[in-house]
Amino acid sequence: MSAWENNEEIQRFREYLRIPSVHPDIDYTSCVEFLKKQAADLELPINVYYPSLPTKPVVVITWIGQQPELPSVILNSHMDVVPVFPEKWTHPPFSADMDEEGRIFARGAQDMKCVGMQYLAAIRSLKANKVTLKRTIHITYVPDEEIGGHLGMEVFVKSDDFKKLNVGFSLDEGLASVDDIYRIYYAERSIWQINFKISGNAGHGSLLLKNTVGEKLQYILNKMMTLREQESKRLESDSSLTIGDVTTVNLTKIHGGVQSNVIPPLLEACFDIRLAITVDHKEFENQVRKWCAEIGGGIELEFEQKEPKVPLTKTDATNPFWIGFKKAIDDLKLNVNILVFPGGTDSRYVREAGIPAIGFSPMNNTPVLLHDHDEFIKADTYLRGIEIYKKIIPAVVNA
Ligand code: ZN
Repeated sequence: MSAWENNEEIQRFREYLRIPSVHPDIDYTSCVEFLKKQAADLELPINVYYPSLPTKPVVVITWIGQQPELPSVILNSHMDVVPVFPEKWTHPPFSADMDEEGRIFARGAQDMKCVGMQYLAAIRSLKANKVTLKRTIHITYVPDEEIGGHLGMEVFVKSDDFKKLNVGFSLDEGLASVDDIYRIYYAERSIWQINFKISGNAGHGSLLLKNTVGEKLQYILNKMMTLREQESKRLESDSSLTIGDVTTVNLTKIHGGVQSNVIPPLLEACFDIRLAITVDHKEFENQVRKWCAEIGGGIELEFEQKEPKVPLTKTDATNPFWIGFKKAIDDLKLNVNILVFPGGTDSRYVREAGIPAIGFSPMNNTPVLLHDHDEFIKADTYLRGIEIYKKIIPAVVNA
């Protein structure tokens, strides 16, 4: 038995981890019931909203501040987790086993049930110490982040219920780090997924027709892969850059054709592109359309995703919430890197709504195992995270 077995916060966290809120077709009922129990224990009001479908709840636990008329702070986490391959795990992924070293194994241990429970643990401690805070806090639990948040945060931020929360700032997930340095994220790249629907002259496979889909595909592939290579070199040659600072380009789907001896009239190729925050979106789109024209046209661009340019969260003196956050980080003497997040999180919807958002998961000296087999967090890392939030939350909320 490990030293942390009887720690009440660890027990609560493991209970949450045991709820298999795993894609696909998640039934969020158990999460909602669990969170209602947490709110009752903390004597805090709870609301459940359904901004999209009755099966997609958004749970909001509220701690009213002394000046509730001021813009509030949301502490956000998502309830859903990505699928597992149980045979690849050394512990069952929804048992939340803890080993001798205090490693707690479960899907969601890092991404991001830890953060959702750390917020509550920190608030429990602050309340027990009779701390009162200036602004109102809404601890939000959203569905479906792992499948794009389209029926979760994306619609919730546009709802009247959200507007009534009068949100001024948001904290959400970041990533673990293997070294001592904590990662803090102030922006995300824009996701564009472009399906090139390439039309050309069809005919017999024995001929040398002009303007075929194969030639056009080759041209587009060359242009996109050249861009990929340039960005790859830029990243490798400058050690101050991380993957979030460059544009990534990947060919993800390709299909078409009917029969081996028939030149088809249509081929489709899809690219997943993450536009660096420095890229001019209009210019980029014009460039892609120019390439299509150069090879004879007949290429339709279908955007499966085309995210707009989202305002960055200011990390300077103009953002009082940042000042509060940074002061807490400095008081705790944490080493931090301030970065652009490599993937997409619900923070993009919050930022798009004009609300500053910071991504931060307090997990240093931890292997990055989100979406991987044997995802775990160490009990002492988890408990340290609670201590960190006990400083950060008041600093931000009193900003
Ligand atoms: Zn996540």
